[in-house]
Amino acid sequence: MLIVQKFGGTSVGTLERIEAVANRVIETKNSGADVVVVVSAMSGVTNQLVEYSEYFSKHPDGVATDMLLSSGEQVTTALLTIALNAKGYACVGLTGAMAGIMTDDVHTKARIEKIDTTRLKAELKAGRIVVVAGFQGIDDKGDITTLGRGGSDLSAVALAGALEADLCEIFTDVDGVYTTDPRIEKKAKKLEKISYDEMLELASAGAKVLQNRSVELAKKLNVKLITRSSFNHNEGTLIAKEDNMEAVLVSGIALDKNQARVTLRGVVDKPGIAAEIFTALAHQNINVDMIIQNVGHDGTTNLGFTVPQNELDLAKETMQKLSAAKHVEYDDAIVKVSVIGVGMKSHSGVACLAFETLAKEGINIQMISTSEIKISMIVDQKYGELAVRVLHDAYKLDK
Ligand code: ASP
Ligand code: MG
Repeated sequence: MLIVQKFGGTSVGTLERIEAVANRVIETKNSGADVVVVVSAMSGVTNQLVEYSEYFSKHPDGVATDMLLSSGEQVTTALLTIALNAKGYACVGLTGAMAGIMTDDVHTKARIEKIDTTRLKAELKAGRIVVVAGFQGIDDKGDITTLGRGGSDLSAVALAGALEADLCEIFTDVDGVYTTDPRIEKKAKKLEKISYDEMLELASAGAKVLQNRSVELAKKLNVKLITRSSFNHNEGTLIAKEDNMEAVLVSGIALDKNQARVTLRGVVDKPGIAAEIFTALAHQNINVDMIIQNVGHDGTTNLGFTVPQNELDLAKETMQKLSAAKHVEYDDAIVKVSVIGVGMKSHSGVACLAFETLAKEGINIQMISTSEIKISMIVDQKYGELAVRVLHDAYKLDK
């Protein structure tokens, strides 16, 4: 039995907590499993390091930046290794490079290309606990790289995949994945299981428990994930393949506050216009989410789409350069509410309940988009939390 256990920033935030992590790892080791531990930097450290570099430059050199940013994880790796050794357990701490994590050379957002598991396997075979610094790797020049913010989750999943681990446990400061944000709806319940696809939708719709890329990778490599708290022994949430799930209709409601709407009025209604607009946005790497276009009238039409709030300024600049977009309106006082569940694939009428529920509250739906397992609705920001609560009730998620 091989278990990969990843501990996030708050779980290793102080020396006392690192000691608690050491005890937790020892529990697992004593149960007879081989353990690979992946750690984040102590909470706040990566932000602090980013700030340090920005003191000198807004666009610091990539190689130097990654050398700097990767140091946070190296500190926790070394400290946890020392703690485990002090408790009488044979343990080795490895940087990403020492662990054989090979990436491309796109600094600060590198992709893992392969993992050479020779060293890892040898250490495990020798009976040692292996601690690996998350969020980092090495490129083929030998330079240190980092994997993008929140990247320690990705390190853990990639290692679990490469080592064919039986389980990858992601320890954080929450008990697991909830039917919705418990700060918005007190009746929110922790989910026992959820599919990779639902998890991806929940995360991209604003419920940040795991880094999205790590869930995508877990799905691809079929890594069984559990997300749970390092502060208690409650069972977490299992994230696995859909066929391991009972047919749950709707599993959660997500609220995404980071959305802004762009509306183009009087757009010439002819072939190529949409291509022109969305190609321009794509060139700026703007993430367009929902799109609606009305039926044309008098040779013109209206076109609306949403972008992340922090990309709105760039979207504005981009629109100003386009002749197709003469009258443009912007609105960032909107939110996206999503109803998510694999059961929607096989049940009709799931969407209607959402529309009826919001209508009963007098909440106007400005845009709608649907996929096999999701209905998303754009509503006025001031109704966002209310919408979450009434939908949570309507789909009986507290039951
Ligand atoms: N320390 C890195 C960050 O804060 C990576 C991680 O914690 O996953 O983004
Ligand atoms: Mg993190």
